[in-house]
Amino acid sequence: MIRVLIAEDNAVNRELLRELLELREYTVLEACDGQEALRIVEQTQPELLLLDIGMPVMDGFAVIRRIRENPRLAKLPVVAITAYAMRGDRERILNSGFDGYLSKPVTSSSLASELDRVLTQGNHAANPDRVQEGQSPKKARAGDATGSAT
Ligand code: MN
Repeated sequence: MIRVLIAEDNAVNRELLRELLELREYTVLEACDGQEALRIVEQTQPELLLLDIGMPVMDGFAVIRRIRENPRLAKLPVVAITAYAMRGDRERILNSGFDGYLSKPVTSSSLASELDRVLTQGNHAANPDRVQEGQSPKKARAGDATGSAT
């Protein structure tokens, strides 16, 4: 059972994401601001975090910084969700330690492909049965992002 935490201040967007995730049989947790997101991540250790950038109390950039600084949380897959669509935002987001990026409005297909990609890469512990026969183990790749300049 894969638990996904949605951190998003907009209730309508949160509900939409919950429905899309539950259709794909993820277990959904919710946070309404960055501080609450960080607390739930620490308490429940979900397998994946969908993190809105623009949130009250603590924004997505502050949350991802704290997650990556914390050895217990550093490897949590985190996908940014943002309405920011200007050129350069995608790079800024990926340079901040996010594993992926979704622009609003999030569609069922974009969510599905991004979650599959992020959960599969790095042979995350939450997803052991994703390694298929004949595929070489990718365990060594898990730490690759650390200190990466790209
Ligand atoms: Mn927001």
